[in-house]
Amino acid sequence: MLSCVKATELMDMKEFERLSFINNLQLKIHTSMCSGCRDYMKQSKLINELLNKSRSTSVIVENTKELEEPNTTKLTRL
Ligand SMILES: [Zn+2]
Repeated sequence: MLSCVKATELMDMKEFERLSFINNLQLKIHTSMCSGCRDYMKQSKLINELLNKSRSTSVIVENTKELEEPNTTKLTRL
């Protein structure tokens, strides 16, 4: 039996990569028995949907700080 921590880890992993058959099965078994993790899965699905929506509609403005080199004034002797 998967622990809740491991189950939520797998859920997060699932968003980025495909789980192995075993992991998927373990997750399914766990969520079918654990209401806490079922709720977590619902919530994370919802959050991801919202994130995907906002990602596609809004433009992320990145503040690119220009690296300003300090003015090096060389004292030239005449
Ligand atoms: Zn659980």
